[in-house]
Amino acid sequence: MEIEERLKEVLATLPEGVELVAVSKFHPEEDILRAYRQGQRVFGESREQELSRKQAVLPKDIRWHFIGHLQTNKVKYIAPYISLIEAVDSLKLLREINRQALKCDRRIDVLLELHLASEETKSGLTLDECRALLDGGEWKEMEGVRICGLMMMASLTDDKEQIRREMTSAADFFDEVKARYFADAEYFNRRSWGMSDDYEIALQCKSNMVRIGTKIFGTRQ
Ligand SMILES: *Cc1c(COP(=O)(O)O)cnc(C)c1O
Repeated sequence: MEIEERLKEVLATLPEGVELVAVSKFHPEEDILRAYRQGQRVFGESREQELSRKQAVLPKDIRWHFIGHLQTNKVKYIAPYISLIEAVDSLKLLREINRQALKCDRRIDVLLELHLASEETKSGLTLDECRALLDGGEWKEMEGVRICGLMMMASLTDDKEQIRREMTSAADFFDEVKARYFADAEYFNRRSWGMSDDYEIALQCKSNMVRIGTKIFGTRQ
């Protein structure tokens, strides 16, 4: 099957109100353009250099999401154009995004990344770390960033119940954070979980932003 058909198939499975982030990392510009011509505008990348290279040559109305671990020294390169930084996992990174956003006269939308998976290697904030960051309150003074929701990656496992448990925890935690810190903030509404192999479960666990690569573009080289 071709990219165009696979994209159409994925989109057909998404309920209204769920945003598709087409994860194009490791795939060439030409593949991105094929999805673009079908109307897709939101693409996800996880490496700054690759993203900057693609952003320079691809249509300017693409909304790029940075979905990987972002080093603070790379923020300045993407700050002028990034649409959403999905995986903020420290106050230090949030401060740097704020600093660079203000330099370009922007307010950058971000998500806080939760660590709920069992693997040691997965990045993100534990629930307690996330509460501590929000309780600290420094983010409220940051005019260059807007926290729009939460993001997480479930464990890489065939155990669907484990994936469901982790995503349910994320959904419950979203409700807690929304009530405690963002009750009046309409913009705090993003729940980014679900990838090619687990997005059907994610949709049952209140995800409204799925990040899908392989199922659209095929296996990464
Ligand atoms: C690569 C990646 C995805 C997409 O993974 P697929 O299994 O190819 O759909 C989603 N989210 C993050 C954070 C990724 O790094």
